Amino acid sequence: MKNCAIVGINWGDEGKGRMVDLLTEDYDIVVRFQGGGNAGHTVINEKGKFALHLLPSGIFRDGVVNVLGNGVALDPENLWKEISDVAAQGVEITPENLKISDRASLLIPWHRDMDELEENRLSDKKYGSTKQGIAPFYSDKYQKKTVLAGELFYPDELKSHLSDLAEWKNLTLTKVYGAKPYTDEDIEKWLSEYCEKIKPFICDTGAFLREAQGDGKNILFEAQLGSLRDLDFGIYPYTTSSNTTAAYAPIGSGLPSLKLSDVIGVVKAYSTCVGEGPFVCEMFGDEAEMLRKAGSEYGAKTGRPRRVGPVDLVATRYGVEVQAATKVALTKLDVLSYMAKIPVCMRYEIDGEETDRFPFPTKLSYAKPVIEYLDGWCCDISGVRTWEDLPQAARDYVEFIEREIACPITYVSVGPERESIIIR
Ligand code: GDP
Repeated sequence: MKNCAIVGINWGDEGKGRMVDLLTEDYDIVVRFQGGGNAGHTVINEKGKFALHLLPSGIFRDGVVNVLGNGVALDPENLWKEISDVAAQGVEITPENLKISDRASLLIPWHRDMDELEENRLSDKKYGSTKQGIAPFYSDKYQKKTVLAGELFYPDELKSHLSDLAEWKNLTLTKVYGAKPYTDEDIEKWLSEYCEKIKPFICDTGAFLREAQGDGKNILFEAQLGSLRDLDFGIYPYTTSSNTTAAYAPIGSGLPSLKLSDVIGVVKAYSTCVGEGPFVCEMFGDEAEMLRKAGSEYGAKTGRPRRVGPVDLVATRYGVEVQAATKVALTKLDVLSYMAKIPVCMRYEIDGEETDRFPFPTKLSYAKPVIEYLDGWCCDISGVRTWEDLPQAARDYVEFIEREIACPITYVSVGPERESIIIR
């Protein structure tokens, strides 16, 4: 029996989806335990190229059961669109291979409105939200002002519950933001167009997982975003509104007795960050543009150009610690092949002093990166499949990062395709 979490070590977009897609071969079940459809996992396999937002990345493997746990932000509208898109590309999605927790809270369309209205109000002080309603959703969940997926099976109680919530939410929409209120018809439409469609997938996934655990099944827990976006450990307030760390898997999946046997932390061979907030190692100008182009660093959900920089050892070491990672998968090493000298952010300089410890978020805005350079390999490595065949300089780069972050790098990814991997 294996229980493994795959988590992001940095700011997200490290290539977690690609790693889950690869590793699901050894697993019976894949569970998403937090977050919503506000990020994108890109997966390329024999079935095609897919941008997943909420669906677990095990959806492509025959025989794998995919679970959306109680910790996710369940947006019926976007989920149904995603199911339809992926199914249209030839992937079979049925209640047998996708199960949605009846205890997952529903993201209601007004959460997306609230997100957009608040970002607009903040103007140049905005958080850089993807406007998918995630922050308003989690605020409401913790205020107990949303509904559980399982309530869809109790239409009478649901109707009165939603009507009470709409009355409350309309106060904020109209009086605070001057926006239009939700009517009973709006809610009915949402229920019939989207909620009804996902109903067949909703069940008691807690009981399903407990039984699977009892039967000794192998379960993979898939996180969204990365350590530095964790609500409690990240670059608050430029975090997401859920816990992206492996420690949340037992709660968000609905399997409280879970003991993870492995935590695979995914680290990109350089750094990227979408949206606002401090990003100490950020590169600018031509140097940044070359790296962005080489790595195709444009958001899967929004198409926004990602901010880029060298690998940040200060942030990565911290990310490994807060994830309690037991292994690292280093992705996109192939992207660095064009560089003769590869920059690495070794330490931060804060108030004239250098540190290798990740500081309190407020201090990040005046931290400067201390950069050193390692030798590049200057040849195409995307076809390499064994450690021995990697050029010496590439092996040195991997081993250098491994020593600095004090965690074994077990997987080295050299391309987006499932098979473009070196396992050490
Ligand atoms: P996730 O949200 O962590 O799954 O990451 P994203 O899907 O947002 O971003 C990772 C991107 O890099 C995707 O477009 C992947 O197809 C791509 N990718 C993943 N691993 C590699 C790799 O080793 N090399 C290259 N060139 N691309 C990769």
